[in-house]
Amino acid sequence: MIAGILLCAGSAARMGFDKLLTPLCGRTAVERSAALLVQGGCKTLVLVGNESNEATLAALDVGVPKTVVRGGKTRTESVQSGLNALPDGGIVVIHDAARCFTPAECVAASIASARQYGSGVLALPIHDTVVRTDGADYETLDRSGLFATQTPQTFRTDEIRRAYALADGGATDDAALYARHIGTPRLVPGSELARKLTTAADWEWAKKLCNTYPKIGTGFDTHRLVEGRKLILGGVEIPYEKGLLGHSDADVLIHAIIDAILGAAALGDIGKLFPDTDGAYRGVDSRVLLRRAADMVQKRDMTVRHVDATVLCQRPKLRPYIDRMRENIAAELGLAAESVSVKATTTEGMNDEGRGLCISAQAIALVLGAADAAKL
Ligand code: MG
Repeated sequence: MIAGILLCAGSAARMGFDKLLTPLCGRTAVERSAALLVQGGCKTLVLVGNESNEATLAALDVGVPKTVVRGGKTRTESVQSGLNALPDGGIVVIHDAARCFTPAECVAASIASARQYGSGVLALPIHDTVVRTDGADYETLDRSGLFATQTPQTFRTDEIRRAYALADGGATDDAALYARHIGTPRLVPGSELARKLTTAADWEWAKKLCNTYPKIGTGFDTHRLVEGRKLILGGVEIPYEKGLLGHSDADVLIHAIIDAILGAAALGDIGKLFPDTDGAYRGVDSRVLLRRAADMVQKRDMTVRHVDATVLCQRPKLRPYIDRMRENIAAELGLAAESVSVKATTTEGMNDEGRGLCISAQAIALVLGAADAAKL
């Protein structure tokens, strides 16, 4: 049996908020860490929590059988609580929940090493020059043979349990106790991605890391051209004998762009979010809706990065207004105008656009967000 112990008992003192249970691009560190342990090969999990988070941990679906236990004041005590919840025999993967981007392959490699050699501890060689100084003495350490250990740290359950039973003082990791009481831990290559989220800078790093996944959306809209209405495209009022019919200002270009953005974020469509049965949207400036759609995307930790659109319009000529449309749209999206492209085409007199019955627009948006749950 391969069991995982996920350490979630640490206090959030250094970060100022609960870093383990605050969603990061849609998923918490605990959820990510539980998922990577399962992907790496754990068949059961023990979540070691504290008084304030154990109810949340208990409600979590991790996809395999799990138990939740209360941790202690130190990491050593918390690991001990986790080990107490496991049956004899088998392999145990001990992991800090705050290292929530550790690749599942590293978990699998540590398990394989523990099967073969009794232990598998993630570690990275240190490439920086390391010094020891108290302000007066200054010693440059020989960095050959220096490693930074990470988690997971994987062992035969009975052996690491024996090491913990013999522990007389705290240790900063499991490998230290194993080395003291059982034998030399076997190192397996760690990963820069196994970085522990400790400081605000770590949190920013994590946000960047999980917001690089490109998401694409398309949008299309069409509105009837009628007399007695203003013609508004991309937030620009264009002098013309007709205008577009609609519940809002009928800005067909912005509507297509809103749908593209919502599509990239998989948040539905403009009709679902701003229904025309809602009087609040009568005659509304579509730029307001565009801003609102962008806000919704942002709230889910995604960022609109680029928009491209084509307006299908026989008359009037749109070229003189294109740059102002781009600037308007970019302003609502918090983008530079270079990241908003607007093009116009006639349809050579064909189709309803060509006959002057309507104006249509199509758009595509690039949004960056978190990778699929399965990919990260
Ligand atoms: Mg529309």
